[in-house]
Amino acid sequence: MCFFNTAKIKGRRDGVIISTLILPTQNGTKMTKQERYDRAYLRMAVEWAKLSHCNRKQVGALIVKDRMIISDGYNGTPTGFENACEDDDGLTKWYVLHAEANAILKVAGSTHSCSGATLYLTHSPCRDCAKLIHQAGIKRLVFIQQYKDDSGLLFLEKAGVDIIQMTSVTNSA
Ligand SMILES: [Zn+2]
Repeated sequence: MCFFNTAKIKGRRDGVIISTLILPTQNGTKMTKQERYDRAYLRMAVEWAKLSHCNRKQVGALIVKDRMIISDGYNGTPTGFENACEDDDGLTKWYVLHAEANAILKVAGSTHSCSGATLYLTHSPCRDCAKLIHQAGIKRLVFIQQYKDDSGLLFLEKAGVDIIQMTSVTNSA
């Protein structure tokens, strides 16, 4: 059992405004239902990342719309290609698809739409994926770890996407 202060603060982190959850306080109020769901979805994204065959970095993604998981993805090579993500020099092959790109493309091949959806990511998106996220109509991004290059986040912030970073995904943070 853990109690959280549900208030959110807007903090500037490397130039990007990210709504950050205030850490639990002794006399804090209980975590909101949304926060509990956000953490649970992020934990699933962490599990999805483990399915990746990539050695350098494993990233997981989940797309949720109207309280339904409509897609999932992890970084990896396109269908029909060998699973190994790195070449003999240990460098990531250029055609490896990022987790969020895979998840968005999966929706494109279904009867669902990303419009108004929330994207859960283990890592913040790169600039190329940020373009896809915005263009797909995703309105909310919840992620755990920040990628070194924040231009993707800056772009999404400009595009009006709600950005939330949760560095802890357990309910007993
Ligand atoms: Zn990317």
